[in-house]
Amino acid sequence: MGLISKLLGIIFAASGIAILFFGSSDPVWSIAYYILGLILMSVGLTLVTSRGESKERKPPPPTVTEIRCDNPECTFKEIRDFQKADYILKPMEAQCPKCQSSMTIHGIYVVREEESE
Ligand SMILES: [Zn+2]
Repeated sequence: MGLISKLLGIIFAASGIAILFFGSSDPVWSIAYYILGLILMSVGLTLVTSRGESKERKPPPPTVTEIRCDNPECTFKEIRDFQKADYILKPMEAQCPKCQSSMTIHGIYVVREEESE
């Protein structure tokens, strides 16, 4: 559907530009053609650009990183926002706030948006 509206938009805009460019030899009709061309062009451009905007507006699904303390006796666990360089089993530079042991990334999860289906 998105591709079709984009194609339609390009066709509208192109025909609008063509009408504006070629116009009409009749001065009365040339005004009508001019308006029609403008409308077609704006509708076409709206179709093309609105699609792109709506795609950009949708944020990527939030991803979280689960960090766990390496000390088996410690239960410290932290969930924070995913950062670019994160990967599973990556040793963390930060120390556990509970026992000062090293910490490792144990999981990276995509938090699915709650959708009522
Ligand atoms: Zn710990």
